[in-house]
Amino acid sequence: MDDLRELYQEVILDHNRHPRNFSAMEGASAKAEGYNPLCGDQLTLYLKSEGDQIKDLSFQGSGCAISKASASLMTEALKGKSKQEALELFKKFHHMVTGSVGEEPDPSLGKLAVFAGVCEYPARVKCASLAWHTLKNALEGKGEVAKTEG
Ligand code: ZN
Repeated sequence: MDDLRELYQEVILDHNRHPRNFSAMEGASAKAEGYNPLCGDQLTLYLKSEGDQIKDLSFQGSGCAISKASASLMTEALKGKSKQEALELFKKFHHMVTGSVGEEPDPSLGKLAVFAGVCEYPARVKCASLAWHTLKNALEGKGEVAKTEG
């Protein structure tokens, strides 16, 4: 379990140092801002969708390693997914980071399972879920800043 934890930490640090899809997007079909006042994390999420499918995602912003790595891994995980699939994944992700310690993450979360340990640190849950709350707002066409409550 400790090896696994170390591996998870490696993935998070790698995505923090080299975030994927870290850029502003030209011609985005939706854009939303997220802010987590507890930690100071902020991000802007861009997405391009065609019908019901998410074609592309990118983000910009600054924050702690967890918020940045979470946004980076989320943009990778959701490319090509339908909006419904994205919201389903958010539900599973949220369940994982607010769940109980030692609970097996849903297999469909794939690489996102690296955040399973976050449930041990309640103050970090908002960091890990900020990108997802922002995504939800972007998908629902809400222009306002995503709050990390709930
Ligand atoms: Zn944070």
